[in-house]
Amino acid sequence: MVNKPGAAGNSDYKLILNNQAEAYSGITGSKREKFCQDYITKKKQVFKQIHAKQLDAVSKTGKTISCHNGCTYCCMAYMQANIQECEAIVYYLYQNEQKLWHFINNYTVWREKLEQNGDMFIRCGESWLGQCQPGGGEQEPASLQEMEVEYRRQNILCPFIIEGSCSIYEVRPFTCAAIVATSPPEWCSPASSEKPATHVIRVPEIFDSGFYYGKIEGTVLAFMPLTVYSILKEGYKLLSGIPGLEGLDEISAGAGPKPFTDEENDQQYTLNKI
Ligand code: SF4
Repeated sequence: MVNKPGAAGNSDYKLILNNQAEAYSGITGSKREKFCQDYITKKKQVFKQIHAKQLDAVSKTGKTISCHNGCTYCCMAYMQANIQECEAIVYYLYQNEQKLWHFINNYTVWREKLEQNGDMFIRCGESWLGQCQPGGGEQEPASLQEMEVEYRRQNILCPFIIEGSCSIYEVRPFTCAAIVATSPPEWCSPASSEKPATHVIRVPEIFDSGFYYGKIEGTVLAFMPLTVYSILKEGYKLLSGIPGLEGLDEISAGAGPKPFTDEENDQQYTLNKI
């Protein structure tokens, strides 16, 4: 049994509860719920395909996959996911309240560790919205590669780990599922001087732009724990800041639909700080 943080332990507590209560209510909420359910079903199928490809690729090398339940060495890596994945993870957490409250408790500790190191998500870039809008940021955001190196250097375990295992394994990001190692597990530790032997399967689904309110503009990629927490805390308000989803918070509140941008482009966004 995990303790809920309570109003005294986490000032976001009430916001999170409010967003949970309204997440799937009304017409927009129904669409949102259906989208998440369908997305999770599809994702599980894609996971099977990824695993089959990994087995095939690894068997050709004559080696075996060394990843196993309880190994978390690679869970100190920069975990990127698209906004649809983050939405599905939020839905999964709402269905698994023990995991939800574990995550919220872990998140507070995880965020404090980042802050003790100077909070790279503040140092490395502007607000995510600033980066999404042309000319919206005053400084060049750090590249993804810089962010990955910076994050990994800190050796901070993913806040979704519970008792040594991934608590959202069924809906984990494609970036987590896509990679397996054949070298000794400890070689994947950021502290190891050995270079791990890994196999990465390309997952085109990460670039999906379909969402429950039409198509978003391009692919919205985000640092997963920050984004999941922000959706829990901000709900539709956060989602309505995504290009193509403007006004979603008002729509969900019953204000009626606003003009919706449905143009596709190949632009790729990075949400660095939320
Ligand atoms: S989401 Fe799961 S698999 Fe991915 S880094 Fe976090 S704990 Fe590890």
